[in-house]
Amino acid sequence: MALYDFRCRVCSTEFTLMYKTIRAYEAAVRACPACGSADLARVIKRVAVQSPARDYSRLSPGEMLSVLDSGDSRQVGQMFEQVGASSPAAGVEFHEATQRLLRGESMDKVEQRLQEHSSAAPTATATSTPSPAATRAAPASD
Ligand SMILES: [Zn+2]
Repeated sequence: MALYDFRCRVCSTEFTLMYKTIRAYEAAVRACPACGSADLARVIKRVAVQSPARDYSRLSPGEMLSVLDSGDSRQVGQMFEQVGASSPAAGVEFHEATQRLLRGESMDKVEQRLQEHSSAAPTATATSTPSPAATRAAPASD
């Protein structure tokens, strides 16, 4: 997952979109949520972080996605923490997901929780079924 900030060139609305992969980002048809215009500008925000292990806010979208593709939960969590801090639209779920990643939970699991949050009411049903995808042995070819 990666967050992208956009600004509508027509009505100046700023919004944030989240994509799981670079393919999803490239394939997505984006439109302003306020006026529906497709005339959007990417907004690159810099985050002030004190002595970071790595300044993820300076990574290009491609570099961010390579971090995501690494499947390293803690590294992704650190990136989310730095990059997400500049996106108030990201919301509580995003920050919760960030904390889970920083604790080393698998990305698949965290992502699953995020989807449960956004689709259903936030009733914390602790279904701890070990996902076979969590091992990410062989990437599915698509
Ligand atoms: Zn607009």
